[in-house]
Amino acid sequence: MHTATTIADIRTLLATERSHGRPIGFVPTMGALHAGHAALIERSVAECAATVVSVFLNPLQFGAGEDLERYPAAPEADRALCRDLGVNHLFVPTTAEMYPRPLATAVRVEALESVLCGASRRGHFAGVCTVVAKLLNIVQPDALYLGEKDYQQLVILRRMARDLSIPVAVHGCPTVREPDGLALSSRNAYLSPEERAKAVTLSRALFEAADAVRADACDADDVVRRVTGQVAVDFDRIDYVAVVDPDTLQPVRGEVIQARLCAAAYLGSTRLIDNVALDATARLS
Ligand code: AMP
Repeated sequence: MHTATTIADIRTLLATERSHGRPIGFVPTMGALHAGHAALIERSVAECAATVVSVFLNPLQFGAGEDLERYPAAPEADRALCRDLGVNHLFVPTTAEMYPRPLATAVRVEALESVLCGASRRGHFAGVCTVVAKLLNIVQPDALYLGEKDYQQLVILRRMARDLSIPVAVHGCPTVREPDGLALSSRNAYLSPEERAKAVTLSRALFEAADAVRADACDADDVVRRVTGQVAVDFDRIDYVAVVDPDTLQPVRGEVIQARLCAAAYLGSTRLIDNVALDATARLS
């Protein structure tokens, strides 16, 4: 496995891969890698001749007062995991390498960025889109692997690639969970043992809603009300619970047929997000 810290180095390494006609898969991350990241990497390694993983804690996507300064880092463990999974190139740029001067450019997917997480994290998705557009220009992969865990991010980046004609296939990968259902996240490390015990309430409420929609006709507003009530029992603050169209992210009204149930809530100062598909089509067919 090669490790590159500069844009020039990773470009040289990948030019060689491309000259051999080897399709390149790319998994962008912010480090502190866990089994959720590993699933993306494994898929890329299985499907592409060469896999690139980037580890870059992108300051552009953190707002004032968010957890940029305390975000977990584990560079040695990240490197070992990538090597063990068969990653060919690890790209670990510094902030100065990525942003040598103040940016005059931002990439925004305006129609999708101001709802759900974007409503409370102003500028977050512009930061995500700008860094991923830059990374895609650096790596020029054939395939991009993203997690459904960050569902809005997946929808936004898929739309960005389409709107800007970026020649990359965007693959969404299922959320990897702890045995009790909690979605794996680098931020789970912030939870105290008591908070960790309560955290399961979020995924449990979402799964119950998905079961209910599969079993019976459910009104979207009722789903939101029920999930909000369940999550409020254990969480300290709810940012949002929403039933949205899977592509436009606009709220669904009336009976739920196919939608995405998304939620964000706080345990202490830790903000957790999760989402599940709602699908009644098997019952209706
Ligand atoms: P991050 O390091 O949090 O920026 O995440 C990097 C990539 O891993 C993103 O595409 C995430 O959606 C994905 N990811 C994070 N957690 C999970 C998970 N539990 N299951 C699947 N993918 C995940």
